[in-house]
Amino acid sequence: MAWQQFSVLRKSCRFPDRCPVCLCVGPDRALFIESVSGHFSGFYLVAKSYRHLRVAVPFCKSCTRRIIRRSRWGTACLFASFFACAGLALWLDLSGLSAGVLTVLICGPIMWWFQSRGSMLRIDDYDDERMTISIKHSAYADLFRNLNMETLEK
Ligand SMILES: [Zn+2]
Repeated sequence: MAWQQFSVLRKSCRFPDRCPVCLCVGPDRALFIESVSGHFSGFYLVAKSYRHLRVAVPFCKSCTRRIIRRSRWGTACLFASFFACAGLALWLDLSGLSAGVLTVLICGPIMWWFQSRGSMLRIDDYDDERMTISIKHSAYADLFRNLNMETLEK
């Protein structure tokens, strides 16, 4: 399965009456999908803040459960690996830069694995009017294209 990308109007975007993961008819749950890229929203003392677009997408009950469970496991594994890196850095008496590199090398793939695995739909980018959605399942992508035909931008 290859990702297919669509640019649609945010106001009128509609999702098929199918679960984007298992394609069962009549999904009865809504999961909020957050955009991959965020837009700058302000400075807070020493950090910048970014706002992400969140869109409610219908999923079936069992896929919703699986996605939430995976997300919780991902968060737990990320925290565990972060503290393991901090402990290892202290034990090996690493400098700040080395500890940072070690953390990125270990936590980065874990984050990537939990975020990409099983993901069937993502919002790549957005502006005030449009959003760019990528869909992995080709049958769901066809349904989405047909449903949003009038507002699609090539
Ligand atoms: Zn499903």
